[in-house]
Amino acid sequence: MGRRFFIRTYGCQMNGHDSELMESILLDHGFLRADSEDAASVVILNTCSVREQAERKAIGRLQALAWRKAAEKNFYFGVAGCMAQNLGKELFCRVPALDFAIAPGRIRSVAEVLKRLENGEKQIFLPNEEGETFVNGSIDFCRRKITRVSAFVSIANGCNMNCSYCIVPKTRGREVCRSMDSILREVQFLVEKGVSEVTLGGQIVNFYGIRKIPFVNGKSPFVQLLEKVHAVDGLERIRFLSPHPSGFRDDLIDCYANLPKLCPHVHFPIQSGSDRVLRAMRRPYTRQMALNVLHKLRRNVSLMAISTDLIVGFPGETEEDFRQTEQLFDEIDFDMAFVFKYSPRAGTQAAAMDNQIPGSVCEERNQILLKKLAVTSLRRNQLFLNSQQPVLVEAPSTKDPRVLWGYTPHHKKVFFSASEKLIGKIVPVKISYITTCALNGVLENG
Ligand code: SF4
Repeated sequence: MGRRFFIRTYGCQMNGHDSELMESILLDHGFLRADSEDAASVVILNTCSVREQAERKAIGRLQALAWRKAAEKNFYFGVAGCMAQNLGKELFCRVPALDFAIAPGRIRSVAEVLKRLENGEKQIFLPNEEGETFVNGSIDFCRRKITRVSAFVSIANGCNMNCSYCIVPKTRGREVCRSMDSILREVQFLVEKGVSEVTLGGQIVNFYGIRKIPFVNGKSPFVQLLEKVHAVDGLERIRFLSPHPSGFRDDLIDCYANLPKLCPHVHFPIQSGSDRVLRAMRRPYTRQMALNVLHKLRRNVSLMAISTDLIVGFPGETEEDFRQTEQLFDEIDFDMAFVFKYSPRAGTQAAAMDNQIPGSVCEERNQILLKKLAVTSLRRNQLFLNSQQPVLVEAPSTKDPRVLWGYTPHHKKVFFSASEKLIGKIVPVKISYITTCALNGVLENG
C-alpha cells in the first residue's frame, strides 16, 4: 500500500492551487491522501512568506513535526512554497530534522523528491531557477481533482513589480504567463467535469501577457483572454484575482457590460488613500486614478461590489495620510476590505525605512477602518434585501446540513434551506435577512 500524505496550506489562493497540484501529482504516483497529519507518513507544509508571523507559525509546526520524526523511522516532512525560497537552506539550520524544502517553481518535483528520500538522500533543497518559476498548471490540469463547482485557474505566476513592502517577487520570481490556449483547455476541462465558475488567478492578472501578446483593437491581452474564456460553452461565471489598480483601463471596465458571465465584483487592492504613502510603497498610481476607476465601475455596473486590501501604519504614515485613507474608505463604501496592520518584512525595502509606526498606532488605525467596514458592508448588503438572487450552490453549511450556501454574482455569500441535490446548480433565492458578512434567504420556486 502506498504512503499516506497530508498537505497543510497557508496563505493565498495561489498556494491553494499549488497544493491541489502537488496532491494530484502524488496521487498519480501511487501515494494516498490522509485525513489528518497524524494519519500521514509524509507531511508537507505549503507555506506563505508574506508576513513574518506566518513564517513563525510554520516554523513552530515544523519543530513539532521534528519531534515526531525522532520517534518514527519512516516519517518524512518538508516545506513547499514561498518560505522554501525565502529562507532557503537556512530552514535546515532552524529545523535540522527537516527532510526537504521545495520552492514554488519546483513543486512539480514533489514525488521525485520523496523517492530520493526513500533512497537514502537527506535534506533535499530545490530553489526556483531562472525561467522555471512558473508552475504550469496546464501540463497537469487533467490530474486535478475537482472538489468544488468553482475552480481557480492559474494564468500567471510571479511579479515584476517592486512594491516596497512585498516579498512575493523574491519568493515567486519574475512573472511568467501561461499561453491562452492552455488556459482555455483547462477551463474547458473544468466545465466538462461540472465546474460552473472559474477564477482566473495570478499576482497581477490584468497585466497578463502585456509584454508578449499585442493589443487588438485597443484590447489588452487580459481582455482578449476574458473574451475567449467567456466563449467557453457551459461556463456560467468568470471572476479574476487580483488586478493591479494601474492596469485597470476602459477596455477592462467595458467587459462588465459586454461579457455577461463576468461577475459584477472586483477585488481592487488600493493599499492606501494617500499619494505620499502610495509613492513610498512604490505603487505606480495615485489616489485620484484609483478613485476614477472605482467610480466608473460603480456608474457602469449595477450594484458593482468592490473589495480591497489596505495597509495601515506603513512607515511614515502620518495622521493626515491616514485621514486620506479614511476619506477614500467613506467615499467608496467598500463591500469588503482586508485591512492589514503594517509589520516589517525582512528582505523588503520598507523594513529598512527608519520611520516605522508604533504598533499601538497601527492597531488604532486598524480598528477605525474595521468599524467603518462593519457599517459599509452592512449598508452594501442592505441593497440586496428583498431581491431575488441567482445563487451558485456550493455545499451544506457545517453547522446545519439542511442549510446550503453559495455565492451571488456580486460575491455575496447566501445561506438558505434546501436539498443537497441543488449543489452545483444556480438557483433563485429571495433575500430576507442580512448581516455584515452574509445574506440569508428562501429558495424561490422550490
Ligand atoms: S504587485 Fe506589489 S504587492 Fe502585488 S505581488 Fe507584486 S510586488 Fe507584491
